[in-house]
Amino acid sequence: MLDDIGGLGKLARHCYSRWCGANEFEVDHFLDKYVVDLDKKTCTCGMFQLNAYPCCHAYAAIADRRDPIEVYIADCYKKDMYLKCYSHMIHAVPGQKEWVQTG
Ligand SMILES: [Zn+2]
Repeated sequence: MLDDIGGLGKLARHCYSRWCGANEFEVDHFLDKYVVDLDKKTCTCGMFQLNAYPCCHAYAAIADRRDPIEVYIADCYKKDMYLKCYSHMIHAVPGQKEWVQTG
């Protein structure tokens, strides 16, 4: 069972995934049908490649393949990267009266 990251698991309950071979899956979601390629990290809904983390269709395919979901989430969403990004000092900013006047 995958972690229910961002409620994807709940949404994926309405998805039915079929393996098509290699890394491609056909996913039924209500009356629509989507193509997920797990190697390319794409879904024809566009959200997987746009957000850099799986959409509910990709989540269903990942669960079908029993892969760890962390593999499909971009590093920018991970705690290590967040801590690294904010590890440097953020300098204080003076008030507007202290700003240098320019032409
Ligand atoms: Zn999708």
